[in-house]
Amino acid sequence: MEGPVCQVAWGCYVLLVISIGAHCAMSSDNLACPSTSDLRTQPVAALDKEGIGPAMMSIPMIACSTSLSEHHSGGSGTNKNKQMVEQLQRYGVISSKKVVEVMETIDRALFVPDGTPAYVDSPMAIGYNATISAPHMHATCLQLLEENLQPGMHALDVGSGTGYLTACFATMVGPQGRAIGVEHIPELVAASIKNIEKSAAASLLKGGSLSVHAGDGREGWPEHAPYDAIHVGAAAPEIPQPLIDQLKPGGRMVIPVGKIFQDLQVVDKNLDGSVSIRNETAVRYVPLTSRDAQLKGY
Ligand code: SAH
Repeated sequence: MEGPVCQVAWGCYVLLVISIGAHCAMSSDNLACPSTSDLRTQPVAALDKEGIGPAMMSIPMIACSTSLSEHHSGGSGTNKNKQMVEQLQRYGVISSKKVVEVMETIDRALFVPDGTPAYVDSPMAIGYNATISAPHMHATCLQLLEENLQPGMHALDVGSGTGYLTACFATMVGPQGRAIGVEHIPELVAASIKNIEKSAAASLLKGGSLSVHAGDGREGWPEHAPYDAIHVGAAAPEIPQPLIDQLKPGGRMVIPVGKIFQDLQVVDKNLDGSVSIRNETAVRYVPLTSRDAQLKGY
């Protein structure tokens, strides 16, 4: 009897690990990878309906097992960042050379709070009920926006949090372009500026092609509109009209939309000003909301 019982137990364990993995793959911002004891809080059954792409399915093996930095204990932070990017390529999340380049250039460790494992493929708390998105979500958004982040273009990062993606955008659009972060928690704005100052994007901040502002990102940032690329790092119940208005014809916005069940939507403004929207993948982000609601825990 021992053999079959053992096999069943092993089968259950494998299913459990896959379920956790599926959940982590779609989580982007506000949920860390759960431990098995957290499972009751995870809507695992619902995830099956949401269609998670095969590449994303494989990433949780990084996210939920051990951190990349733990796997690769040798080497500097820069090397570990590079290893994280290589892992994302190996798992099929990144296929773009430019995204590899920018993620290697901007060291994620400079953007996570001290003591936080920087290279784990999971969102991490940054205070004020906010999180830094998981590396695979940063990579996914950079890749979706790549064509609209060419040198000289204008990019807006709404809910810029740690400033990681704003720094990536600024690096891609270069000194002739413009990258704007808008974040409604002033303390996070100040911290993000400090993070950027330590990063490879520091000269762009100094030169003025990168800036981060305190404000309600649902209003966009009209001063430097229209934008070729808009990224929204928090989930909106519906797409804010000012963001659509501030998108350039030919421009693209990537925005999580929904409350509990959310989709990462790709919004393309056509040359005639009409808008095409498609769902990229199911995600889970913190809400795009008022500062008060966020500080009260939504
Ligand atoms: N891309 C960021 C994500 C941060 S989490 C990163 O990876 O670091 C989402 C962020 O959106 C939080 O910092 C939160 O404070 C911010 N946010 C939520 N609602 C907002 C609003 N209405 N205006 C501006 N920022 C907002």
